[in-house]
Amino acid sequence: MTLKDLPIGESALISKTGGNGELRQHFLDMGVIPGTIIKKIKLAPMGDPIEFDVNGYELTMRLADAEKIEITQQDNYEVSAQNASDDHNKTIHPGLGEDGKFHSKGDGNPLPDGTILTYALVGNQNSGKTTLFNQLTGSNQHVGNFPGVTVDRKDGAIRNQPNTLVTDLPGIYSMSPYSSEELISRDFVLNEKPRGIINIVDATNIHRNLYLTMQLLEMDIPMVIALNMMDEVTGNGGSIDVNKMEELLGVPVIPISASKNQGVDELIKHAIHVAHFQEKPLRQDFCDENESGGAVHRALHAVIHLIQDHAEKAGIPVRFAASKLLEGDKRILYALNLDVNEKEILEHIALQMENERGLDRSAAIADMRYAYIKNVCSRTVRKPRESRERIRSQKIDMLLTGKYTAIPFFILIMGLVFFLTFNVIGAFLQGLLEKGIEGLTALVDSGLSAMGTNEVLHDLIIDGIFTGVGSVLSFLPIIVTLFFFLSLLEDSGYIARVAFVMDTLLRKIGLSGRSIVPLLIGFGCTVPAIMSTRILPSERDRKMTILLTPFMSCTAKLPIYAFFTAAFFPKYGGLVMTGLYILGIIVGILAALLYRKTLFKGEPVPFVMELPNYRLPTPKNVGQLLWEKAKDFLERAFTVIFMATIVIWFLQSFNLHLSFVEDSSQSILAKISGLIEPVFRPLGLGDWRICTSLISGVMAKESVVSTLEILFDGGFGSVLNTLSAASLLVFSLLYCPCIAAMASVKRELGTRWAITLALWQCLVAWFCAFAVYGIGHLFI
Ligand code: GDP
Ligand code: MG
Repeated sequence: MTLKDLPIGESALISKTGGNGELRQHFLDMGVIPGTIIKKIKLAPMGDPIEFDVNGYELTMRLADAEKIEITQQDNYEVSAQNASDDHNKTIHPGLGEDGKFHSKGDGNPLPDGTILTYALVGNQNSGKTTLFNQLTGSNQHVGNFPGVTVDRKDGAIRNQPNTLVTDLPGIYSMSPYSSEELISRDFVLNEKPRGIINIVDATNIHRNLYLTMQLLEMDIPMVIALNMMDEVTGNGGSIDVNKMEELLGVPVIPISASKNQGVDELIKHAIHVAHFQEKPLRQDFCDENESGGAVHRALHAVIHLIQDHAEKAGIPVRFAASKLLEGDKRILYALNLDVNEKEILEHIALQMENERGLDRSAAIADMRYAYIKNVCSRTVRKPRESRERIRSQKIDMLLTGKYTAIPFFILIMGLVFFLTFNVIGAFLQGLLEKGIEGLTALVDSGLSAMGTNEVLHDLIIDGIFTGVGSVLSFLPIIVTLFFFLSLLEDSGYIARVAFVMDTLLRKIGLSGRSIVPLLIGFGCTVPAIMSTRILPSERDRKMTILLTPFMSCTAKLPIYAFFTAAFFPKYGGLVMTGLYILGIIVGILAALLYRKTLFKGEPVPFVMELPNYRLPTPKNVGQLLWEKAKDFLERAFTVIFMATIVIWFLQSFNLHLSFVEDSSQSILAKISGLIEPVFRPLGLGDWRICTSLISGVMAKESVVSTLEILFDGGFGSVLNTLSAASLLVFSLLYCPCIAAMASVKRELGTRWAITLALWQCLVAWFCAFAVYGIGHLFI
């Protein structure tokens, strides 16, 4: 029997974890190991994926993957007694001065004063990393990208500790490179050799979180464990014997609550101490001679001796290298550069281990780690009763992922977000800002006139810079408001559920459930939509999603639709508008199907995802995020957009002899437009003024309308008719995204992709508009 066939609500014992490669490793890392109890909770509303419980937390998995997991059902399961003995201590912790009970508080070999103490902040997703990072660094942090990849990299000094630098790494579950982020985190720890690791562990989910810890300890780098969310553990009557845990793990363990800022000072003290004195973990050996016959223990130690010299040469911690090799990690094997003979011996050792242990190599190693964790937890953790947070989450999920309620609630929530952003809060703030910009423009305008500034300069400042940058700047409130809501949705844990609910639909076009978020934001504005693709775990999905978002009708296209429907389709306004929105979606779907067959052949990321308990995000996190987004946007407005404004202004204000023209039909822009006019003639748009307006639409889509109004003075009935207006609408919907959006694409994917995308969309737009114009002719 496989997990797929298990009835909902029932439990079973995993007997075999099938599948292969990195996905299988990922399952093992997440605790789906033979011998573990697994419970099926529910199916997504569309029947796939499924949600299940293993080791007390909720995971999702597609049916196709569940089919590979074999189970046996038993009558009753002995719920493993994981409570520490009654006499165990309350959560107390030795202060720094108490000579910690286990690790030598060394004072030998301190790093020279003034050495920058670099730290990697490593932990599972949703373990509270961002919260802790913000607490540690206060406001002195900067955001960038990891070299070569566009995953956010946040660095910052610990507050009041100028000689420190903490790097917030992507959330990971294991040091096996399953997703690109896990590779980033692993390479960071391996290659950049931080002076210390701060490992954040979610104490409410301690089994799974310690799995990563086991591997970090093998890295032979000074480390402290921040046992986060202790407020929830103690609040629900649980406790953890921290001293015992320190003893068993060989590193300082500090109970904290990042969101309440408890224990953070102590964490800082310990982190600085271990890094300054380079106190390495006292224990890196987690295999037990007596456990399951000791096969894994013997194999591991044999491999350690076998590869010692190679590991030292490659600069990889030997214990880590050995366990990865036994697991079957190809990258480490390659990095170690073993001889043929050594490779053979390695293979023999692994085979022998598999034989003796009765499990394949990856499962045997994962099982070894989980066995040690079980041992640690049984001696230190007194489990809380079922937590209030968990119960609350299950209640909320009855609605938000319920079979009949999930999709209505999704539509409701997204509708509300868009309504509040584009009609209420954002629009209100935008109105205010626009008034401010107008006032300022008027002020500067009269000031310049009063000073008798040269006419050209005056024109540049007012009609160029103020109008251009100003119109873009006025989008700031909308973007910040939209991000406010999205960060609420994401940090609270709802986005993970949306992905769960929508996965089946998106799979049909070659994406996974998570891509729904950027696509939805794309209806607001492509720029934040493209920025939000960073939440996607795989490069393939991320690229594909970025290439699809511009097909969604962003709000800047709305003025164009409104303008032309009023002029040419007064009776069918609503119909035409809705039609355009739907056309965008259809073209997007077709494009996705095409991309899937050509550019992005692979499979969408498997959908193994944790569904965390719903939690309220901290105001500090939200504030920090909004500030980052605003800064990012402002930076762009004053660089890319500023330059582009000046260029367009120049082109429409000067003629080829570089003298200033009053009538823009003499301008360089008009000449350029004249050149491309033949291209647009088959679409019924063969007029230089229309071409100009489309070009200026690249700056910002709204300016298609404003340019037309200036150039035609209202009377364009002579150039356009119903049919060419329809073709113009279709073209405007689909052609290349605005400068700001292209700049975002460039930032995420590079110049080549940005240019290709722009050209490709123009091509698609041309053919669609041509089709509309041509087919229309048949009827009229
Ligand atoms: P990350 O994914 O590891 O960056 O995790 P976040 O920092 O985004 O935190 C995930 C969620 O846990 C957020 O909603 C936080 O507000 C919440 N959280 C973080 N630390 C604590 C804590 O110590 N106690 C409680 N109760 N919640 C916390
Ligand atoms: Mg985070």
